[in-house]
Amino acid sequence: MPETLASSPAVVPLTIRMHAADNVAIVANVGGLPAGTALPGTAVVLRERVPQGHKVALVDLARGAPVLRYGVPIGHALDDIPAGSWVNERLLQMPEPRGLEDLPMATVQPEPLPPLEGYTFEGYRNADGSVGTRNILAITQTVQCVAGVTDFAVQRIKAELLPRYPNVDDVVALEHGYGCGVAIDAPDAAIPIRTLRHISLNPNFGGEVMVVSLGCEKLQPERLFPADAIPIQNARGSGAGDLDTVCLQDDAHVGFMSMVESILRQAEEHLKRLDARRRVTVPASELVVGVQCGGSDAFSGVTANPAVGFCTDLLVRAGASVMFSETTEVRDGIAQLTARATTPEVAQAMVREMAWYDAYLKRGSVDRSANTTPGNKKGGLSNIVEKAMGSIVKSGSAPISNVLSPGEKLKAKGLTYAATPASDFICGTLQLAAGMNLHVFTTGRGTPYGLAPVPVIKVATRSELARRWHDLMDLNAGTIADGTASIEDVGWALFHLMLDVASGRQKTWAERWKLHNALVLFNPAPVT
Ligand code: CA
Repeated sequence: MPETLASSPAVVPLTIRMHAADNVAIVANVGGLPAGTALPGTAVVLRERVPQGHKVALVDLARGAPVLRYGVPIGHALDDIPAGSWVNERLLQMPEPRGLEDLPMATVQPEPLPPLEGYTFEGYRNADGSVGTRNILAITQTVQCVAGVTDFAVQRIKAELLPRYPNVDDVVALEHGYGCGVAIDAPDAAIPIRTLRHISLNPNFGGEVMVVSLGCEKLQPERLFPADAIPIQNARGSGAGDLDTVCLQDDAHVGFMSMVESILRQAEEHLKRLDARRRVTVPASELVVGVQCGGSDAFSGVTANPAVGFCTDLLVRAGASVMFSETTEVRDGIAQLTARATTPEVAQAMVREMAWYDAYLKRGSVDRSANTTPGNKKGGLSNIVEKAMGSIVKSGSAPISNVLSPGEKLKAKGLTYAATPASDFICGTLQLAAGMNLHVFTTGRGTPYGLAPVPVIKVATRSELARRWHDLMDLNAGTIADGTASIEDVGWALFHLMLDVASGRQKTWAERWKLHNALVLFNPAPVT
């Protein structure tokens, strides 16, 4: 027997429509709304129960009619859908992706946003001018074979050496899956190799580069770090003039413990220098923020992502660097992005990245629709078009001034499209390589995501998730759907939280619990 509102008089039906042209809205109430609910301010009465985050038809939709959310067609009705019906993915035909020809190139020239001045944080200034938000010794590895030995050594470094160097926050082994079974001369192998190189140079590692190598691997240390790749003096070993490398197959190593002792001895040289670093006051323009989402639901594009987008604009106004990524989640909004590019060249670079990714997916006989997960759909996202429209708002409204290919290092301030897969770990790994010193991650379904090299601020899209995961979520954007805070309120709260976290005054939940996901290299090259 269907529930009716009469049995729960406290519930005020809440629905959210994103754009005046939309012919669907999403249900905001926890637990959804029962059949028979009259939507306030409309003549619509629900014909069936509609779960939280899912769409209800606001008008009668004829078979073939476009279903509009964010003012764009997220699909076409596969059948007649009367007003008040639950519009789920089974009733929608997904539209074809926009072609990459005849796109608007740098056609939107918005008024420059007013500068935002006077905001600072306490960071570690590096010799190359970059700024770290943490003071971490990273140990680079050329091949997966050395991961076990390096991890063993890192446990001992943490137990025996780290207490003597209290200004150093952590020691991180940069473990990855790259091994010898790779076609290292394939053109696309450049991506994982430059990713590893650039991660080693992340601002949080203070310019200290230390490498553990096996000896016989394809990716030799000299190939990972060509002579001109490390402009920083501390990348060199103690006086030898060479890259600081511990080679496990070196004849000098007799037995496992001698390898471990070598790693400890070399690590201590770097720890001494890192320990001498002190935080100094730097302008907010030194933030390099990577934004991404994972475990998305229909609220992602309503609460957390718009708040991140507002904060993205604040960061750009403050002169900082912001990267948004996740190619399959912006592909359906390519026309918005190319229009927002500062120059036709930047727009063309975005088209190049989309075309490369289309071809990459086609090689695997799939397209961008392979992105959505069962959890996305359960959370109300019918397809990748709807997900993309909600994902893209993380980029705010600032002009897009720069484009990075996967694994490249960021060189410019402002808003950058850093092309990456949407996979949380691969995207995070590539943003680390680009030089991110702070990470913002929105989630609706809930994920305990974290990265060892940078603080990750997690933003919940719903208050119910923020309550249940009170010691995993750093900020609740669900207040926007509850009607108790505005997008601007949450955007400013995020901005201030970023400055506190960047300064080390506040730790994220992932840092407190030491929740760290793996680095996952994007390797589109063949494996042998
Ligand atoms: Ca993601």
